[in-house]
Amino acid sequence: MTERTLVLVKPDGVQRQLAGRIMARYEERGLKIVGLKLVHIDRELAERHYAVHKGKPFFEGLVAFITSGPLVAIALEGPDAISLVRTMNGATKPAEAAPGTIRGDLAVEMGQNLVHASDSRESAATELAIWFAPGELLAYGREIDRWVLSPQA
Ligand code: UDP
Ligand code: MG
Repeated sequence: MTERTLVLVKPDGVQRQLAGRIMARYEERGLKIVGLKLVHIDRELAERHYAVHKGKPFFEGLVAFITSGPLVAIALEGPDAISLVRTMNGATKPAEAAPGTIRGDLAVEMGQNLVHASDSRESAATELAIWFAPGELLAYGREIDRWVLSPQA
């Protein structure tokens, strides 16, 4: 089933100049970029994005980190995109992230684990609405679909 999901290349990824390489992994896998922006968010947006973690011991540090510099917000589309991107990102704790995943290849600290991705249908819908206005999410036309997905046609 075709899904859309929200990915963030967090401020550590932008600061380390890994944003393009991280985005390339999703593109190479076959996911389509349907929304994209470089933004430096304020506390209000950070708290909305991470509302589910409010009150947890790491919340303040998380908000401070995510607002510490620019990040790249990406809307990705593809078959089972939500779980596929979570698998590509790897476990939250980089030490537990498998080699071959983004965190397993490029990160060592849980607080600086490079990427965020929506974890369910519900969070994907909520998060995409937080980060992108409806007009900022695009759809690819049929011809691109045919070229990418059906080379035999
Ligand atoms: N985090 C942290 N300490 C923790 C748990 C989470 O610093 O004990 C950070 C970590 O950067 C993580 C983010 O908070 O990516 C959100 O946590 P979540 O459990 O949602 O992990 P994710 O969905 O990003 O894998
Ligand atoms: Mg999460």
